[in-house]
Amino acid sequence: MKIICIGRNYLAHVKELDNDLPTEPMFFMKPETALLPIGEPFSYPDFSKKVHYETELVLRICKTGKAIDEKLASEYYDAITVGIDFTARDLQSQCKAKGHPWEIAKAFDYSAPIGKFKKISELKNADDISFGMKLNGECVQQGHSRDMIFSFDKIIAHVSRFVTLKEGDIIFTGTPQGVGEVHVGDRLELFLEGNSMFMFQVN
Ligand code: ZN
Repeated sequence: MKIICIGRNYLAHVKELDNDLPTEPMFFMKPETALLPIGEPFSYPDFSKKVHYETELVLRICKTGKAIDEKLASEYYDAITVGIDFTARDLQSQCKAKGHPWEIAKAFDYSAPIGKFKKISELKNADDISFGMKLNGECVQQGHSRDMIFSFDKIIAHVSRFVTLKEGDIIFTGTPQGVGEVHVGDRLELFLEGNSMFMFQVN
């Protein structure tokens, strides 16, 4: 399976990092080794001094598709959860300055903790899914899917022009504003539609 991540998909977050507004979805990938088993702590990596959390809705692909029509895109994902796209922001800034790829800042081991998936059909408000994250008990990020610049269906259509999507692949759909640093000892708790989905510690 592969993990696809969408960057710059919420206006307020694009502004907080002083990035340009995208005209089409931009994406990058993380390998399967980026997944963090539920319940395991996240070990702060020794190669970074500035690891940021990005709390995101995460879709699960349910059938194989290539060059998927946006109108049919909703048939290709059936489940959703929340996750963190951990980012070594110091390394990412260096990569951006040099015009290098982002992998060392984004694709490292355990950089993609995710919760258990829920069927989208079972959500009360699938048109505007709310999510958030509490850092040490304090809410630091809150988002609503209606605020995305590119919808789930637009993302699926765009990504599948370039990369075949397969059952079991997952897509991080971008972070709202409020990204920030984690530190050793922090506790992160993620929410979907107001329900606590999972919790983990930074070691
Ligand atoms: Zn992200």
